[in-house]
Parts: sequence; C-alpha cells; structure tokens
Amino acid sequence: MQVTLVILKPSAVQRGLMGEVVSRFEKKGIQIVGLKMLCLSDEILEEHYSHIKEKPFYGRVKDSMQASPVVVMALKGVDVVNVVRKLAGVTNGREAQPGTIRGDYSMSVQENIIHASDSIETANVELSRFFDKNEIHDYPLHNIQSLYAPDEY
Ligand code: ADP
Repeated sequence: MQVTLVILKPSAVQRGLMGEVVSRFEKKGIQIVGLKMLCLSDEILEEHYSHIKEKPFYGRVKDSMQASPVVVMALKGVDVVNVVRKLAGVTNGREAQPGTIRGDYSMSVQENIIHASDSIETANVELSRFFDKNEIHDYPLHNIQSLYAPDEY
C-alpha cells in the first residue's frame, strides 16, 4: 500500500468544496489516514513549490495558497499516488477531463482546488513536510475485502 499527500487549496476551502472533494476520495475506496487544517508559512511554501519558485507567477501562487487555511490529507491505497493524480486531473482546470476533480470544479490553472503528490518519492517527502509521524494513523479497513481482491493488496 502507498500513502500520498493531498492539499485542499484555498480555492476548495473558500468555495465550500472540502466535503465534496473528501467524499470523492472516500467513495473511490481510498482510506483517509491523516487530515488537518493549517496555514502555510512562506518557508513551507517555498519548500513545497521549490520547482516553480523562479517562475514569474510564483508570487501569485503563494498569495493564493495563503488566502485562507488549507486542509492537508494523507491518503492510503494500492497505487494511490497514481490513482489520486488521475482523480485530480491535469493542472489547468479548463483542460482537465470532466469527471476529474479539477475538470469538474475548476476554471483555472492557478485556482485548481487540490495539490496531489506526483510520485512515491515526492509523496514521502511531502507527507513528512506536513505531518508528524503520529498524525498518520495505521488502522484496519474493515471492508477491505469489498475494495480489493486478496491478491491486490
Ligand atoms: P500540479 O499542481 O498539477 O502538479 P505544478 O507542480 O506544475 O502543477 O504547479 C504547481 C501549482 O502552481 C499548480 O497546481 C497551480 O496552482 C500553479 N501553477 C502552475 N502553473 C501556473 C501558471 N502558469 N500560472 C499560475 N499558476 C500556476
């Protein structure tokens, strides 16, 4: 099983979409193993978005990510990194496939509702950036046999 990191961005928080997005993960069969609300500091954002820090639009992205608290989530499942990236859709909400979170709820490149880790390695780094070890909970899923065949997990 993998664990990945999702951030419900201020665009989700402000528009009242938190429950809707969390519900999509739950309905898919992804286990929520960590969840909390926090405000992102300049330092943590620079670390998190170091790959776009030199881009001309970084200042806008930073302001947008600090416009309200965000919700960080740790999500667990088989191949969950890839599954969640697919559920999120491509960066630009106008280009994202209908049925994806960005495709259904976003009209923007910047205001695109969620962040999702893009690889297993990134997920591990990002999880430890936002969660203490004791904030990620290892608990059994009682309906796991309804979610996976025995050889899948
Ligand atoms: P993703 O979040 O899909 O992995 P990136 O890592 O490339 O995409 O970018 C991080 C975030 O920066 C995006 O989710 C989006 O909010 C913002 N962003 C990316 N490109 C632009 C852009 N050209 N203009 C404004 N914001 C952008």
